[in-house]
Amino acid sequence: MVLELKNITKNFGGISALTDVSFQINEGEIFGLIGPNGAGKTTMFNVITNMFAPTSGEILFLGENISGIKPHKITDKGICRTFQNIRLFSQMSVLENVLVGAHCRNKSGVLTSVLRTKSQKHEEKSNHEVALELLELVGLSRYEDTIAENLAYGQQRRLEIARALASNPKLLLLDEPAAGMNETETENLFDLIKKVQQRGVTVLLIEHDMPFVMKLCDRITVLNFGKKLAEGTPTEIQNNQDVIEAYLGSE
Ligand code: ATP
Repeated sequence: MVLELKNITKNFGGISALTDVSFQINEGEIFGLIGPNGAGKTTMFNVITNMFAPTSGEILFLGENISGIKPHKITDKGICRTFQNIRLFSQMSVLENVLVGAHCRNKSGVLTSVLRTKSQKHEEKSNHEVALELLELVGLSRYEDTIAENLAYGQQRRLEIARALASNPKLLLLDEPAAGMNETETENLFDLIKKVQQRGVTVLLIEHDMPFVMKLCDRITVLNFGKKLAEGTPTEIQNNQDVIEAYLGSE
């Protein structure tokens, strides 16, 4: 098991964003987290990455309790995320964006080249190689020198994924990766997430595009008003009467 969420509750003042939510994600799964607006999905990502501490509950990552660990340490442990709104270094090149992710993996990355020892320079080269390989994976090799903000929307989304992968995560959290994409971009994204899975990375994804979720995910948890409404395979979720009434029926 990669991730185990045990009885997670998160309150913001009088608002209960998550109430006693538990689920587990197995190694190598693509796991979907769905539900209506305000259901608590992004809050769950924020709790997993400890941007907010849960009010109560426990988070186990590869069997280790990571509740209370600082967000950057969570990345070191092997969890990386993308955000609902694109957060690239917009004035940096495509390659540089991925290198930033790779530097998060290697502590030497924060040193200037003058300070680096010979072996650290070697690491820098391997970061470069990793970045090029990831650009190929996401189909952006020929844009390596392009300034990030000049990429098309779907390409920027794929670049975010490459940057997240550069930190070498075991678990990748994707917050609405298909939002705003056209049909071709969504198809490319689908293929990319499958390839990420084939590389051995477990994926947890929030998404409102139901055909995309149902085709892509191995299992799904549905949240509604901060509570777990259902969990199961895409077929089980599509046939669940509570889910149809609360969410799918209104799509
Ligand atoms: P969407 O699909 O619209 O992105 P969501 O399922 O991701 O929604 P959340 O963003 O997690 O939902 O929000 C869940 C609830 O928690 C909402 O009522 C929201 O207003 C509240 N909430 C989230 N973050 C905060 C915060 N930092 N302070 C106060 N309330 C918050």
